Amino acid sequence: MIIIMEPRATQEQIQRVITLLKDNDFEVRYNTGDVHTVIDAIGDKTTLTPGRLSALEGVKEIKVIREPFRLASRDRNPEDTVITFPNGVKIGGNNKPVSMIGPCSVEEDYEGLLKVAQAGKEMGCEFLRGGAFKPRTSPYDFQGHGEKALQYMKKACDETGLLSVSEIMDACDLDMMLEYIDVLQIGARNVQNFKLLKAVGKCNKPVILKRGLASTIREFLLAAEHIMYQGNTNVILCERGIRSFDSAFTRNVMDIASIPVIKKYSHLPIIVDPSHGTGQRYLIEPLAKAGLVVGADGIMIEVHHDPENALSDGKQSLSIPMFKDVMGRINSFNNRLHYEKTCLSANVE
Ligand code: PEP
Ligand code: MN
Repeated sequence: MIIIMEPRATQEQIQRVITLLKDNDFEVRYNTGDVHTVIDAIGDKTTLTPGRLSALEGVKEIKVIREPFRLASRDRNPEDTVITFPNGVKIGGNNKPVSMIGPCSVEEDYEGLLKVAQAGKEMGCEFLRGGAFKPRTSPYDFQGHGEKALQYMKKACDETGLLSVSEIMDACDLDMMLEYIDVLQIGARNVQNFKLLKAVGKCNKPVILKRGLASTIREFLLAAEHIMYQGNTNVILCERGIRSFDSAFTRNVMDIASIPVIKKYSHLPIIVDPSHGTGQRYLIEPLAKAGLVVGADGIMIEVHHDPENALSDGKQSLSIPMFKDVMGRINSFNNRLHYEKTCLSANVE
């Protein structure tokens, strides 16, 4: 990192910074210009963080050269991470993008959930996604059916052969969830719930980590780093839109550019969730395709057997007939895209 000192930093202040760096095994070089002293420090930022250094008197600015997310970074691991499930499904790398579909919340009607799962299976999807614990903005909204919903998820997945995904909100539910679920989801609102990140980091279940409503890409990757730092490297990122100033027509702003940016800086797989990203049914198909074009490793779409009466996110959920139409077109698009990408990489090599 490079530490730029204030114009009027005293010799004593400069020396304190240098001593602290040297005490932490940094290699230090510095230049005293007419105005600023610039210190060039090479070493391990985990022993002395930029945050600590910036607190020293006389420090103006610190520029970090290596990204702080180490385990998630492509510098460290240039090859794409591929997550393989026991049934052979793979996410990441050059594998064909996967599809995760299902209702926002798992409701009382098991038959409804099963119909969605069967439609997903018929359309070639690999995952059934349904919420048992719902992070609702209002305490008066439906909060999820908890363990009973997880039992429904498992049953529907056993009947169809799909893999299950469900959101964890509290670390104390982890052991129970591990009995029912193939992939844990951490929702946008919990992306910086560090205790929860730590807890899921200690198991080895794959985790879908959603981008927070106001997370920068760096913060998002650092949240993934928290999980990986505990030993669980099976992290799948999910772009689900961020808050911006214009919510007149869409619920969130779908940050499509984040996908290639994250691919450039990280080896982790990333999927796209146009349902939450836009909040609008009619935008699911174009934004899912856009995500695939820019390199997403999968899509997540909300589908409900009766969207008009759904207990959560009905407005952005596709009905089963709509889903079959949309998914049919996404599949053809995805097949063409995947074929072109495969030919392209074959030519390049
Ligand atoms: C969800 O997946 O239903 C959900 C609540 O998503 P997010 O955390 O992205 O808002
Ligand atoms: Mn939802």
